[in-house]
Amino acid sequence: MDKKKRVYNGWLIGLLLLFFTSWQFISNFYDQQVLTQHEDFLQQKAYSFIRLTTDEKEDFAEIATDYVEDSDERITQLTNHGEILFDTFDAELSGSRSQRPEIKAVLEGNPSGTSVRMSPTLDQELLYVAIPIKQNGGIIEIIRMAEPTQNFLPDAKQMKQAILLVNFVFWLILTVIIFSILRRRNRPVETILPVIKQIIKDPQQQKMIMQRSSEWEELYQNINVLSEQMSHTYYALSTSEKQFYTLLNELMVGVFIVDENGNLVFINKTLIEQFNLTQIELNQPFATVITDPQMVQMIYQTRDSNVVSKEIRTTTSQRLLDVTIRAFKDSGRIFGVTYDMTRIAQLEKLQNDFVGNVSHELKTPITSLIGFTETLLDGAKDDPQTLESFLKIMQKDAYRLQSLVQEIIQTSKNTDVNYVTTSVNVADLANKIVDDYAAVIQEKHLNVIITGPEELVFNTKIELFKPICKNLIENAIHYASSEGKIDITFYQENDHLIFSVQDDGIGIKQQEQERIFERFYRVDKARSRNSGGNGLGLAIVKDYSEILGGKVQIDSYPGVGSTFTVTLPSL
Ligand code: ADP
Repeated sequence: MDKKKRVYNGWLIGLLLLFFTSWQFISNFYDQQVLTQHEDFLQQKAYSFIRLTTDEKEDFAEIATDYVEDSDERITQLTNHGEILFDTFDAELSGSRSQRPEIKAVLEGNPSGTSVRMSPTLDQELLYVAIPIKQNGGIIEIIRMAEPTQNFLPDAKQMKQAILLVNFVFWLILTVIIFSILRRRNRPVETILPVIKQIIKDPQQQKMIMQRSSEWEELYQNINVLSEQMSHTYYALSTSEKQFYTLLNELMVGVFIVDENGNLVFINKTLIEQFNLTQIELNQPFATVITDPQMVQMIYQTRDSNVVSKEIRTTTSQRLLDVTIRAFKDSGRIFGVTYDMTRIAQLEKLQNDFVGNVSHELKTPITSLIGFTETLLDGAKDDPQTLESFLKIMQKDAYRLQSLVQEIIQTSKNTDVNYVTTSVNVADLANKIVDDYAAVIQEKHLNVIITGPEELVFNTKIELFKPICKNLIENAIHYASSEGKIDITFYQENDHLIFSVQDDGIGIKQQEQERIFERFYRVDKARSRNSGGNGLGLAIVKDYSEILGGKVQIDSYPGVGSTFTVTLPSL
């Protein structure tokens, strides 16, 4: 039962109790009044009877019998000790009545004595009134008059019923008035409370109290304004929250938010990718989604220290992440940010390797040049034969330095350079490159076949396209077996040029195939160096293909040969 009902029931029970108590009181009071009236009446009768008997000087028994003849009344004459002398009901009645309350009262000196009780003689309820007859200050006789209460009480009963009705009507009206006051007092609460409950449940939904009440108008209007403001504020809040989460989702850094109960409430797609997460269920304990042990440990650590920052390597994807997790004590929320350092670490390593490799590559020809110049200056220049052979070696080292520097410059070129797009005849270009290597081709007895439409003109940036073709053809010539075959094929398909170079040389193992595009990476260092290679050729091919919006693929088997295919879009 709710509080309101309890209050109403309390009032109802209270009013009923008051009604019955008041009725009891009025009823008793009324009975008392009726009795008192009859007492007085019987008393007056007794006095007038006494006067009659003393004045008439007649026989008491005769007068008394006459007096009560047409009524139910009863007159008893008693001695001053309470002994019955005569009774109108039974003339033969005798015995003491001194212990009857009305007689006892008179014997004790009271001017009269009254009593209401059942008469064993008449077997009905009687009202007794006794008064003394005095002479010279002493009681000589006692006269007792009695009347059945049913002579007057039934009349009084009708009156009592009327009083009961009036009393009932009075309390009924009072109850109605009290309940209407209670209702009036509770009406604003009854009207406003459900509205407030709805506002709390769904603050974004605007609620209106439509009731008109002069008394509570201002209160209702204020509640309406409050609901409107709440709705606007909540809408603005949820909108900005939505925007905030959308923004977080677009970020390149991983972000997650854990609420005060330890449930994951937000995780952005970058973080999902970084950890290769598959089962994403929000509003679950965070450890059911973010399962990486190091991350879980860091989140727990924020309970002791507000911020925990660490570089970790993910167990699932082996990515290097810079993780910062911060706990906000006020809200109890935990915010985590992860920055993927894998690429940066790779680039750092590549840079370090590059510098190391460049200095190493430069050192060999330079040391050789210094050695030979010193030997020449020390006197070897005087021997024309030695001089010539030394100069030839020095020239070779100088060329090697020149090509190395050129390729380093080429690999350093980037997309910012605005080369002009020109129309290139692919067949002409391929033939020209092959011609440049005519001496080696002849020396190795290679069979180079160029297949492709002679008139094919491809729109590209020649400064980038030519090194791609040159490096692929050069590698094929270097790594093809002697008397081997090289197929240079090109054709256009869907606005793309497919250019491939196939050789039947040593081939490349599967595990090496990914690495050969790294700068300075060579499968067989000694062999590559002997053939003038420095490990930059394929790096240039890959870089330039990507700059031109294309890609390079390799298909190679050790001992069978290699095919490099470049796919480039027309510009
Ligand atoms: P390099 O100047 O040493 O040839 P590249 O970057 O052009 O450098 O090639 C990297 C490595 O890839 C080479 O050292 C070689 O081991 C391997 N390679 C490249 N092309 C071929 C090919 N056609 N056949 C076999 N191996 C090749």
